[in-house]
Amino acid sequence: PFVITDACIDIKDKACLAACPVDCIYEGGRTLYIQPDECIDCGLCETVCPVAAIHADDRLPPELAAWPAVNRDFFGPE
Ligand code: SF4
Repeated sequence: PFVITDACIDIKDKACLAACPVDCIYEGGRTLYIQPDECIDCGLCETVCPVAAIHADDRLPPELAAWPAVNRDFFGPE
């Protein structure tokens, strides 16, 4: 899945919300989160994010390695 990372914090532009064809992006307190089990890996959100906060989880820079768990944990235990 794709993941939303630290560049989104306190920005929450929400262009990705409008772009996501399966509505799997959700708003939290300070950032947005992608529900990893619902994401279909289309990549549209990454192309519209004005702050480049969204990345495929298998192409994450090392400094953003914690963010897949942050996105998943927002949705609670499975
Ligand atoms: Fe939604 Fe596609 Fe982004 Fe996944 S990659 S969150 S399905 S827009």
